[in-house]
Amino acid sequence: MENVTVNFIENKDKKTKPDADKIAFGKHYSDHMFVMDFQADKGWYDPRIVPYEPITLDPAAMIFHYGQTVFEGLKAYRTPSDRILLFRPEKNFRRLNLSSDRLSIPAIDEDLALSYLKQLLEVEKEWVPKAEGNSLYIRPFIIATEPNLSLAPSKTYQFMIILSPVGSYYKEGIQPVRIHVEDEYTRAVRGGTGTAKTAGNYAAAYKAQERATKEGYSQVLWLDGVEKKYIEEVGSMNVFFKVNGEIITPELNGSILEGITRMSIIEVLKDWGVPVTERKLSLEELYEAHEQGQLEEAFGTGTAAVISPVGELYWGEKKIKINNGEIGDLSKRLYDTLTGIQTGKIEDTYHWTI
Ligand code: PMP
Repeated sequence: MENVTVNFIENKDKKTKPDADKIAFGKHYSDHMFVMDFQADKGWYDPRIVPYEPITLDPAAMIFHYGQTVFEGLKAYRTPSDRILLFRPEKNFRRLNLSSDRLSIPAIDEDLALSYLKQLLEVEKEWVPKAEGNSLYIRPFIIATEPNLSLAPSKTYQFMIILSPVGSYYKEGIQPVRIHVEDEYTRAVRGGTGTAKTAGNYAAAYKAQERATKEGYSQVLWLDGVEKKYIEEVGSMNVFFKVNGEIITPELNGSILEGITRMSIIEVLKDWGVPVTERKLSLEELYEAHEQGQLEEAFGTGTAAVISPVGELYWGEKKIKINNGEIGDLSKRLYDTLTGIQTGKIEDTYHWTI
């Protein structure tokens, strides 16, 4: 891999790191950030690691008006022997470019981006938490910076990476979540932006989440936007079901985000010889399977929680409990395996960590 050393301006005013047990998600940021600019005549230029600080943008910068922006999310983990591991980070930069393509943002060099991230982590290694279950959340993102209200792609961009120490997703052990089926609002449709990690998808999901929260549910289950029939995702996670011994996950259909946890889970299941199928799955079929006593487990997958077991589904008037509201054996085994690999506690036979 080409390795370009970036300019470094040290932050002399180091922050106090948060206490391990008091870290709130998204509240704390490290001392430095990575920044790189884009101009049509120069391409991506001036990669640099600089003190973390507010940025100044023209009020007419296109990001503020038309949402031309993409982002990624991944984590760095500290192993018991004090190494710092990234889990399949090349997949995140691949996906960032796929998102950028959808939003008419110029591509970055994926190998270089990974080398920049590694250099930033080298500077900020003390920010990777030592406490069990904690990690350093990494947020690469690109914003359109040209001051121009015309409806056309920006001519200038900024690519940044910021780092945020985060606590364990499960402070009191894994708790299955209660899910509200959303049958009015839509997250994404084929041909839309659902397969891209772009801001608008997330802002437009708050409305459904508000309703779920009000009714005492922690996340929403998204249905397809056309027939409102087929299962797509749960909150901002992909979703899997164990039905009569078989694992089923909705197939990638042009509106589902291709999760890196999802692709890893599928590989692990195949490796274990557990039958796994990617296909269309209607909510009706799922409820029927439950009626026949065949719906054995359900879980969401994503970087934040890794595995989030679903204990209850609420659709219209129909509430169903899955596995008695408890975590299933397969969900637990998958959670232990993936988190074990990510944190270097079990051997990474897949060569996913670097
Ligand atoms: N779906 C959506 C909509 C998401 O935002 C995420 C988080 N990136 C996921 C699924 C899970 O993806 P990953 O496993 O790569 O975190």
